Amino acid sequence: MGAPTLAVWKFASCDGCQLTVLDCEDELLTLADQMQIATFLEASSAVVDGPYDVSLVEGSITTTADERRIREIREQSKVLVTIGACATAGGVQALRNFADVGEFASVVYAKPEYIDTLATSTPASAHVKVDYQLQGCPIDRGQLLDTLAALLVGRKPWLPAKTVCAECKLRGVTCVLVADGIPCLGPVTHAGCGALCPRHRRGCYGCFGPAATPNTAALIPVLRHDGMSSGDVDRVFATFNVANFATERNDQ
Ligand code: SF4
Ligand code: SF4
Repeated sequence: MGAPTLAVWKFASCDGCQLTVLDCEDELLTLADQMQIATFLEASSAVVDGPYDVSLVEGSITTTADERRIREIREQSKVLVTIGACATAGGVQALRNFADVGEFASVVYAKPEYIDTLATSTPASAHVKVDYQLQGCPIDRGQLLDTLAALLVGRKPWLPAKTVCAECKLRGVTCVLVADGIPCLGPVTHAGCGALCPRHRRGCYGCFGPAATPNTAALIPVLRHDGMSSGDVDRVFATFNVANFATERNDQ
């Protein structure tokens, strides 16, 4: 029996999560010993036909061709893992979901009639069954490697839906919100980054998207108290995970 096959796919995205895969450098060589990297156009133009044991999918679904392609990838993949805010939430391009995409196209493009796009940007999970999701903009390298290692040995990846606050506590990080009065979305944001921003004395801005049961209604008065206007609050939730935060916000 040959090595399990890995395919990496791109939809509407900036390629940052695929770059995180490439950024694994030394571990990527070990991984290449254990898995056949069958398709990964960012790394090589060589393509091995499916089916694939594991597919990593970056990017959101924004065209009818994307809708077709994600279904084909699902059919070809035993395990499908979405990587990053675009693939798990629609990305910053999901701002169009709350506006008129035709108006955007007419402002941005000289010939908007050539633009063939859906009115919305959606995650892969809105179209096909997704087995695991890696959050983040971009994803966390350690979480990616741990997930691939888990799939290789046949165990379930460990992707707890706790908050960034829990990661601060585990790492002994002094809370920037409480100690320094810096606005921080950690109490409502999905864990996985290891509290990267608070570790550098910065507030979290939610790039891992909402945690399992985010209490935004309780957090927003605290953010306002720490100097954010209501416009600032709306803007900080309207970034890479705008669609998922819009669904989860319970303060409106
Ligand atoms: S710094 Fe932010 S993420 Fe960390 S404990 Fe405080 S509020 Fe939570
Ligand atoms: S602390 Fe927040 S903004 Fe910073 S990397 Fe983690 S989830 Fe993203």
